[in-house]
Amino acid sequence: MRTVYLLMLLVLAISALACWGKERAAYTLLQVGQHMFEGEREEVSVGQIGAGLRRGVSRHERRVTPLMKKKVAARYGWRCACGCGEQLSFDYHVDHILPLWKGGSNNEENLQPLNPPHHLSKTSLENQRA
Ligand SMILES: [Zn+2]
Repeated sequence: MRTVYLLMLLVLAISALACWGKERAAYTLLQVGQHMFEGEREEVSVGQIGAGLRRGVSRHERRVTPLMKKKVAARYGWRCACGCGEQLSFDYHVDHILPLWKGGSNNEENLQPLNPPHHLSKTSLENQRA
């Protein structure tokens, strides 16, 4: 049950960050967590735990439909948008070019497909600049 273990760690980290007043970091971690558990049953519990936190941090709904995800990938020729030129992996992420917490929207123009490792580095970079 590796997934459950990971989930518990993630929830602990999010709670700790939230307690220390680092809501932005907690929110980003939450987003990463939701990507990690996308398509799995556990996503529901991550979403529920984070719901209250998210309400306090962002007025925006984070909602990208599977169809929108495909359209975004097609627009980029099914290649990672970070500039690496790699073909998208089966588990590619849809990234908000301007993060939601910085006022970015869920419009298609603000979305780009990224391979998971490249998405994670972008997210941690954004956190450092925040
Ligand atoms: Zn890339």
